[in-house]
Amino acid sequence: MSAPAVTVVVPIFNEELVLPELLVRLTAVFDANPAVRWGALLVDDGSRDRSVQLIRAHVVRDPRFAFIEFSRNFGFQAALAAGLAHASGEAIITMDADLQDPPECIPELVAAWQAGAAVVLAVRRSRVETGARRLGMDVFHSFFSRISDHPIESNTGTFGLMARAAVDALNAMPERNRFFPGLRAWVGFRTAEISYDRQERAAGQPQQTFLRLVRYAFDGVFSFSYLPLRLLTYTGLIVSGFGFVLGTFYVVRRLLGLEIAVTGFTTLVTLVLFLGGVQLIGIGVLGEYLARVYDEVKKRPAYLIKRKTGLG
Ligand code: UDP
Ligand code: MG
Repeated sequence: MSAPAVTVVVPIFNEELVLPELLVRLTAVFDANPAVRWGALLVDDGSRDRSVQLIRAHVVRDPRFAFIEFSRNFGFQAALAAGLAHASGEAIITMDADLQDPPECIPELVAAWQAGAAVVLAVRRSRVETGARRLGMDVFHSFFSRISDHPIESNTGTFGLMARAAVDALNAMPERNRFFPGLRAWVGFRTAEISYDRQERAAGQPQQTFLRLVRYAFDGVFSFSYLPLRLLTYTGLIVSGFGFVLGTFYVVRRLLGLEIAVTGFTTLVTLVLFLGGVQLIGIGVLGEYLARVYDEVKKRPAYLIKRKTGLG
């Protein structure tokens, strides 16, 4: 079989409840657009349920589907990276398995690519996230677009298409801490947008815990901005400037022989706690960068593949 023109990459972690519907709907999209040579690459991120069996059975039946299995759970970003590294299409579509990104939008992505765009972003016209998740996402997006030189379109996630040239550029990046939307914005290329309605998860629970999302947001901030470090420097400058002025004031008062009242317990305690806090935050921020440097220096692979099926 010749290489597919469009490969759909889907990371999968414990998705046995949505997989049957995902496979049916993807296949329906492929069948309805026979002019395109389709391929799908499912990346199993160490699922502990029946996902692997379901996919294996499907891959045997339909040669358009290929399958990569990780040795354990490496996380969503690693699964995505593996998919991008192994997908052979001229254009590669990335989407979630849970059908929050409807497969029916795929032809629209492909049409935008055929019209000349190298990166096509699927922008959420409406969203279904609520509560802390939603608030966190909003805060992150507005913060990120302010601090990064390469702002990501707010209301976009993974869903989208990248042409071969853009994917090659992304694959060539050696970094392990990957924040996909940021990197996609960083590589540039001619970008187009389509819009879609974000759906409810078709079944099951979100596989990314809230904490994981927070870590993901940190990855985004720390790998695309030095602002946290700079803020610390500024805070340090302001606080020491203030300290200097205050110090001078008291020394001068003393030299002039004026009384210095020795109350001020509250002030002292507040200052000690406040400055202690600022210093701890400072060490934490430094640590975030250092840990990432350490990670990159160790050069451990971002994922380990146990088995590849249907990749030729
Ligand atoms: N996923 C993964 N590895 C993980 C967690 C999630 O590959 O460790 C996949 C999951 O199967 C889904 C996608 O990443 O296809 C998005 O996850 P989810 O829907 O749980 O997160 P959301 O972004 O919707 O909060
Ligand atoms: Mg989801």
